Amino acid sequence: AGERKGWMDRLKAGLRKTGSSITTVFTGTKIDDALYEELEDALLMADTGVKATMHLLDDLKHRVKDSKASDPAAVKALLADALADLLQPLERPLTIGKHTPTVIMVAGVNGAGKTTSIGKLTKHLADNDQSVLLAAADTFRAAAREQLGVWATRNTVEIISQAGGDPAAVSFDAVSAGKARKKDVVLVDTAGRLPTQLHLMEELRKIKRVISKADSSAPHEVLLVIDGNTGQNALNQVKAFDEALGLTGLIVTKLDGTAKGGVLAAIAQERPIPVYFIGVGEKVQDLETFSAKEFAQALLA
Ligand code: GDP
Repeated sequence: AGERKGWMDRLKAGLRKTGSSITTVFTGTKIDDALYEELEDALLMADTGVKATMHLLDDLKHRVKDSKASDPAAVKALLADALADLLQPLERPLTIGKHTPTVIMVAGVNGAGKTTSIGKLTKHLADNDQSVLLAAADTFRAAAREQLGVWATRNTVEIISQAGGDPAAVSFDAVSAGKARKKDVVLVDTAGRLPTQLHLMEELRKIKRVISKADSSAPHEVLLVIDGNTGQNALNQVKAFDEALGLTGLIVTKLDGTAKGGVLAAIAQERPIPVYFIGVGEKVQDLETFSAKEFAQALLA
């Protein structure tokens, strides 16, 4: 519990740093139109997006009416409830099924924290007695391959990597090797940037297709890593990658930094894909499961 408190504090500190604190809206004494207007501004400033902001305000007004709340502090508590309810569909753990290997394809634009998250995920799985094989399918960037190699060594897991190889071929080999070596999980790291965005989506689709040739039920999960600091941009990435690949889960990183947090509400409203994990630091243990209620409370603390 001590550890959990640690990351909640970091999350709160990170959210506070943005200065767009939603809580200041509730320091007055009256519940009036001005309060709702201020709240609307604060939610938008926190990256909540127009649709989720409108939904939350509407929901909140109903709750205020039903509960006959009489002071702003009570309204704040009702907002926390409304936000937790909105975020609830995102709260779902990653479960590794009986099928071996479970193939998890991981995508994300460069800098989102993809490689770091794969390292953290590898450790998380290893800690839960899963054997992992890494596939370095970002053959485009030598640095990406090396970085993944460092994570593999650190976690003492095997890695399939091939300088300048075809990303889909590397993925195919990795899934085949995962089967032959009876691994529980194959984690496929993909490129985050190619000369053009169009190429990237084509390449990712091809990797997905070829993975299913090595195992017709794979990939079992297609994850997108997004940087929690990037607001509306992160939501746009979720939509674009989901349309190209069919996402099954998200990892939202850097929520310990200056993230405004509201982007999760925007995702819940517009593209509710489960948030399997959140990243709350650069260290290997800084990966947490997402809790809608805790997150809502941290955002409004
Ligand atoms: P990639 O290009 O998507 O593979 O991104 P990297 O994994 O290389 O991460 C980019 C930078 O973000 C690195 O400096 C990481 O240490 C940092 N980073 C990744 N996840 C987190 C996180 O949850 N919190 C913080 N503070 N930094 C992170």
